[in-house]
Amino acid sequence: MAVYDVTMIPGDGIGPEVAEATRRVLEATGVKFNWDHRDIGMAALDKHGELIPQETLESIRKTKIGIKGPTTTPIGEGFRSVNVALRQELGLYANLRPGKTIKGVQSTFSDIDIVVVRENMQGMYSGVEFDAGKPETAEVIAKINELNNKKVDPSAAISIKIITEEATRKIATFAYEYARANKRKKVTIVHKANIMKFTDGLFLRVAQEVAARYPDIETNDRIIDNMCMQLMQKPDQYDVLVMANLYGDIVSDLVAGMVGGLGVAPGGNIGEGVAVFEPIHGSAPSHAGKNEANPTAMILSGAMMLRHLGELGAAIKVEQAVEQVIGVGTKVTYDLREDRDPSKAVGTSQMADAIIAAIHA
Ligand code: NAD
Repeated sequence: MAVYDVTMIPGDGIGPEVAEATRRVLEATGVKFNWDHRDIGMAALDKHGELIPQETLESIRKTKIGIKGPTTTPIGEGFRSVNVALRQELGLYANLRPGKTIKGVQSTFSDIDIVVVRENMQGMYSGVEFDAGKPETAEVIAKINELNNKKVDPSAAISIKIITEEATRKIATFAYEYARANKRKKVTIVHKANIMKFTDGLFLRVAQEVAARYPDIETNDRIIDNMCMQLMQKPDQYDVLVMANLYGDIVSDLVAGMVGGLGVAPGGNIGEGVAVFEPIHGSAPSHAGKNEANPTAMILSGAMMLRHLGELGAAIKVEQAVEQVIGVGTKVTYDLREDRDPSKAVGTSQMADAIIAAIHA
C-alpha cells in the first residue's frame, strides 16, 4: 500500500487544533501518511525568525503536497501575506474553492454546488503597488500622464493589475480540465471586460479560446457584478466559475456564505505537480486554544487532498462522515448549532471523534 509523504503545516491560532483533528480523520480512512510537520506564519517567525522558512518551502517542493492550517499575518509594515507569498513561491496558480451545501448547516440557500476557480498569482495581487506621496509614485504618475490621455491625480496611490495571456490560458485550461475530470457540465467565465477592456478583455478572449477546445462543456460568461446578483437569484444555473484573482477572492467568500460560512469551506492551491490544501478561514485568534473551533473546513480540505492523490474512496468516506455528523447535529461545534450555545456543543476534537466513528461505522 502506498504511503504518502505530506507536508503538514498546522499554522497559527486555531490552526494546530483543526490540523490535529484533520490528521486523525485522514488516518482513520486507512490511507497511510508520512507527515513532515513544518512551520509557517507567526509560529515560524517565533522559531525561525521568518514567516516562511526555506525548510518549509523545501519540504513542500520535495513532498509535492501540503496541507495547511490558517496563518496570522502580523500587522505592520514589511510583512507580506504569508498565503500570497506561499502561492507565489510555489507557483500555486490555481485556487480551487468548492461550495457545496451540507444538510444541517444553516444557510439561506439550499442545494448549492458551485466550484470557484480563481487565478492565484496575478491580477490585482501582483504586488506592484505605489504608495501615495512617494517619489517613485510621482515618477510613475508622471509617465502615465505623459503616455495616456486620461490623467492620474498626482496624489493617488496606485495598484497595478496584471493579466497575461499565458496565466489566463493556464487557469482557464485548469478550469476546463477540472470540469471534465469531475463531470461538471458548464464553465462560466467571470470578468469586467466592458470596463477593463485590455486586462479583463484579454482574460475573456483567452478563456474563450480555451473553451473552444472543450466542446463537451457548455461555456458562458458573466460580468462580475451581474454574476454576484445571479448567484443570489438563480444559483442552480451555475456550476464551475473561472475568474481573475480579486474577483475569485470575493466570489469564493460569497459562495462560502451561501453554504453556511467559513467554518465549512475548504480550498486547494494547485500548481505544476505541487499542491497545498487549506481551509478558507483565518486563524480566528479569539477561539484559539479553547478546543471550540469548527474543524470541518480543514477536514474537507483534507478530503480534497485525498482526491488529488487519487484516493477517491477515502475522500468520499470523509465527506460522507462529515455530512452524517453534521446532519445528526448533536456532536458538532457551537457555530453549527442554531442556538450557538457552547454549553450544548462539543469541542473540536470531539467532533473529529464523531467523524472518525462515522468513518468506521
Ligand atoms: P477569520 O476567518 O479568522 O475569522 C472570521 C470569523 O469567523 C471570526 O468570527 C471567527 O471566529 C470565525 N471563524 C473562522 N473560522 C472558524 C472556525 N473554524 N470555527 C469557528 N469559527 C470560525 O478571519 P479574520 O478574523 O479576518 O482573520 C484572523 C487572522 O487570520 C488574520 O491574521 C488574517 O490575516 C488571517 N487569515 C488567514 C487566512 C489563511 O491563512 N488562509 C485566511 C483569512 C485570514
